Amino acid sequence: MPGGIELKTADEIAYMREASLIVFEALEEMQKAVAPGITLDELDAIGERATLKRGAVCAFKGLYGFPKNVCISVNEQVVHGIPTRRKLVEGDLVKLDHGAIKHGFYGDSARTVHVGKVSAEAARLVEETRLALEAGIQAMVPGNRISDIGTAIEAHAAPFGFGIVRDYGGHGIGKKLHEDPHVPNYGPALWSRGQPNPRLRAGIVLAIEPMINLGTHEVEVLPDRWTVVTRDGKLSSHWEHTIAVTDDGPKVLTRP
Ligand code: MG
Ligand code: MG
Repeated sequence: MPGGIELKTADEIAYMREASLIVFEALEEMQKAVAPGITLDELDAIGERATLKRGAVCAFKGLYGFPKNVCISVNEQVVHGIPTRRKLVEGDLVKLDHGAIKHGFYGDSARTVHVGKVSAEAARLVEETRLALEAGIQAMVPGNRISDIGTAIEAHAAPFGFGIVRDYGGHGIGKKLHEDPHVPNYGPALWSRGQPNPRLRAGIVLAIEPMINLGTHEVEVLPDRWTVVTRDGKLSSHWEHTIAVTDDGPKVLTRP
């Protein structure tokens, strides 16, 4: 179909559901372990064990050369953080972004977790980013266009004065982690000219993942060539689900 988007069959979506529920369970196990004093490597190991024991493979390990199992980003780190011996401390925001492969199909999901008690503005950023993702998901109905997803996310987040990250976005997902189309987290007024904007239809599966900052939308990549950080050093939140468009509305594969 137009834009190179691969439609998934019901059987393929069932496989993606299996991978996606394993991602959910691994994220649950990691989230339960989040507390001051735990290291990012320990969380990575929990995510790996939770995935392997359910007969799946960690999707990010080795992908494009990523060295660990789970992308773990703290505070001003937006996405693609590499787990280290860094210990979490009270008040941190930790973003757990995990993928799994089962039967050759991918699931991909991320969440932002409080470490102990966080500031009121941090808590608000996290909750409104989560709700911006929910708004984007609700726009995933047949007949809408790809741009309706980002328009909904932006309409939710912009009134708070948050910076919506532009350099990264959502994506098609299936037999590969990243498939067409790219899904911006903002409306088409900011899109580059000629960017495809196909209609949604049943069988399209997308990973939708707003990355929203307390300050500027601008980000940069650290010298490790992976970790994306906010340019002004302020906090960032990231939430992601893998969702199938169906004739009955959006079906979120990465939650029960
Ligand atoms: Mg992800
Ligand atoms: Mg993703």
